[in-house]
Amino acid sequence: MESITALELQSDMYREAVAQFDRVAEVMHLDENIRERLRTPQRALIVTFPFRRDEYSEVDTLFGYRVQHVLTMGPTKGGIRFAPDVGLGEVSALAMLMTWKTAIVGLPFGGAKGGVRVDPLALSRAEKQRVTRRYTVEVINFIGPDRDIPAPDMGTDEQTMAWIMDTYSQHVGHAEPAVVTGKPPALGGSVARREATGRGVVSLIPPAALHLSMDLQGARVAVQGFGNVGRYAAIAAAELGCSVVAVSDVKGGIYNPDGLEIGKVAKWVDTHGYLEGFPGADPISNEELITLPCEILIPAAVAGVIHKDNADQVQAKIIAEGANGPTTMEADAILGERGVFIIPDVLANAGGVTVSYFEWVQDLQNYFWSENEIVARLREIMGRAFDEVLAISLKEKVDMRTAAMIKGVRRVAEAKLVRGVYP
Ligand code: NAD
Repeated sequence: MESITALELQSDMYREAVAQFDRVAEVMHLDENIRERLRTPQRALIVTFPFRRDEYSEVDTLFGYRVQHVLTMGPTKGGIRFAPDVGLGEVSALAMLMTWKTAIVGLPFGGAKGGVRVDPLALSRAEKQRVTRRYTVEVINFIGPDRDIPAPDMGTDEQTMAWIMDTYSQHVGHAEPAVVTGKPPALGGSVARREATGRGVVSLIPPAALHLSMDLQGARVAVQGFGNVGRYAAIAAAELGCSVVAVSDVKGGIYNPDGLEIGKVAKWVDTHGYLEGFPGADPISNEELITLPCEILIPAAVAGVIHKDNADQVQAKIIAEGANGPTTMEADAILGERGVFIIPDVLANAGGVTVSYFEWVQDLQNYFWSENEIVARLREIMGRAFDEVLAISLKEKVDMRTAAMIKGVRRVAEAKLVRGVYP
């Protein structure tokens, strides 16, 4: 087993994912056999395929991956990324994280992830379509509504999912919308998917505040990132009665200690592309945003932004992690000692996969829910998961991140134990 791990899965990301799992397995005294099973993916498919560029004389060979970490509880679920450095280790690490994330919120899935090693920015639309369709055919026997349901990730989007759905449907001979989520609404995509992750993050702030006996009326919120997650988190925080004092994007942030009008900020970005130049606010850097005076900090952009050099200057009492991995391990320890309450990424940003689950259910039933129903069910699932994680955290005397992982791993381990070993 060690040699397989070393040879095929070598990557820092995979090592880190396994190390995190091992730490939690240790705290839980997890059964040794189950631990060994969960350290490596159940299925990992590597494909290579030819890809013709728009220049017709050129044919490249591309590498593609689809990894299914655990098939015990139902079909697997996870995104497909197009990026120049995608490899088996990275995709396997992300598949494992998807297993924990779906288990934490109690969805009937195992984790999966896929990827194609290609620079999406260097592809024309026609090239991207050819890559997507050929990759789909290469993995077609492994995906399906009852097997493995892909979704968008870095470098892929609604259009990519539409091409996958079309290619799959052509091969099985009938329209099969439930094979992917994150589709355009015209193909059975769910309303409120775009807003789901940001809304989900913010839905956990009231129960966190209740636990900390903190008043949310006028509480100051700083949000890093103003994309899919950050924008809707900022809007939801304002709707909650908080004062959103800062937001940022890749070029930098804007700050108004009296609160920003988020509706106007969103319109500004729609018109100008970036936050830069928004009137009535001071420009700040992304580094400054992390340590601003505020009660709630929502990192919703990239990984590693809260680190050992700024963790002791963070003023927020609650950090709700919209992004994946925004807090480094060293920072986590510093913040823990200082009593900062962290709602960890695997729990906080699970709203996206939860509404993807709703999309799959609606496609299977050919019965579509209203936006109000979706938002209410999202809140219910997220709220229940939060309460259960908090209860584990208090009972086991561990931080919320460890507690969330314990909840996820425990659910998978229980399912594995009752199914037993075949044959
Ligand atoms: P996005 O591309 O829509 O938005 C990213 C935002 O971050 C943009 O405003 C961008 O300008 C900004 N940004 C980029 N680089 C930055 C940097 N170095 N410093 C500060 N800001 C920067 O992406 P997204 O979908 O909002 O995802 C954000 C994070 O949330 C990622 O870590 C992603 O993995 C995670 N996440 C997203 C979802 C989802 O449903 N979209 C679900 C779970 C987790």
